[in-house]
Amino acid sequence: MANQGTCLVAKKCGGCQYQGVAYKEQLKKKQQMEETLLKKFCKVENIIGMENPYYYRNKMHRTFGRDRKGNTISGTYQEGTHRIVPVEECLIEDQKSQEIVHTIRGLLKSFKIKTYDEDTGYGLLRHVLVRRGFKTGEIMVVLVLSSPIMPSKNNFVKAIRKAHPEITTVVLNVNDKKTSMILGERENTIYGKGFIRDELCGCTFRISPKSFYQVNPVQTEILYQTAISYAGLTGKEEVIDAYCGIGTIGMVAAKHAKKVIGVELNGDAVRDARMNAKENKMQNIEFRQGDAGEFMVAMAAKGQNVDVVFMDPPRAGSDEKFLSSVVKMGPKKVVYISCNPVTLERDLKYLVKHKYEVKKIQPVEMFPFTEHVETIVLLSKGDLQ
Ligand code: SAH
Repeated sequence: MANQGTCLVAKKCGGCQYQGVAYKEQLKKKQQMEETLLKKFCKVENIIGMENPYYYRNKMHRTFGRDRKGNTISGTYQEGTHRIVPVEECLIEDQKSQEIVHTIRGLLKSFKIKTYDEDTGYGLLRHVLVRRGFKTGEIMVVLVLSSPIMPSKNNFVKAIRKAHPEITTVVLNVNDKKTSMILGERENTIYGKGFIRDELCGCTFRISPKSFYQVNPVQTEILYQTAISYAGLTGKEEVIDAYCGIGTIGMVAAKHAKKVIGVELNGDAVRDARMNAKENKMQNIEFRQGDAGEFMVAMAAKGQNVDVVFMDPPRAGSDEKFLSSVVKMGPKKVVYISCNPVTLERDLKYLVKHKYEVKKIQPVEMFPFTEHVETIVLLSKGDLQ
């Protein structure tokens, strides 16, 4: 693996805890952390690392502002502050997307676009977000502005597309609040469809500016394939995809199952999920919007059961409502996909106390140079056939 150099802003940016640590060593640390927390349940398989751990992120974001001399800068907030740390090159984000941000910065002066000043509330451009479909090559640029009016917006689109014809859509997002949240509520598509598509495990997914989509598509395919193989689907199973986002795991599972129900709290994501099912011509999957715990409580109360539950909660993990309903319903298999081994350990303890057995644990590297680690766990009731 080629050494891609050193990150010049690692300390100030705070995004990567493992900059300066050899990649092999990073994997070792993650493996150790997993074993410390999870070995008591079952053998922890070796973490699946990346062949090339650089420039893997399909989504990037820069905050725009000025330095003390008045030069336009683009970067990231220093951890815990609102000071912008200029970032010229990031070693984990898509390179093409970074070039686009540089182009945008270079165009601001001739278009007389002022960057936003948090203290005075003066200026227009706050942030730029770029998302790229690694398989499809489609690129979305989101310009986050403090006001809905952008002068010469069509010429601006022309200029960035001239430099980067790969851009397939440009969206204006209006954020007029004093907030550290990046995106505001209002959106206005000024070029293209307002979303990009990407492919994972043979399915196509549409991604809107606000939808959750795994940031490391190369490893996501490995993650999903492992999860599906753990479920051992034969085409006869009824399946739940809990915390389903835009429906990715459920749709990949639906190809091998009788029926899938996805449940997700975020309304935009559910809308994308339904559209995705339609576009992929899948008839055996449906989506419900709501709290996954409450959905499971209702299912359990009606005496409904399923064969497999996939669960992929956020970092906070699941909750007692959800877990106690799983226990009540008693699916043969639970496939838990976790982005936080600490809450995973807590939730596994609960399931193990209530007669589930942990059969397999597979860590998957999704976030090189950071300390985050993803884990897939197979639990079952009794012996697996
Ligand atoms: N499985 C998806 C998304 C995982 S991220 C994928 O692989 O892409 C976790 C998801 O859980 C997010 O989409 C978030 O909106 C959703 N979520 C958070 N709290 C929830 C809750 N209480 N009930 C249902 N979904 C929830």
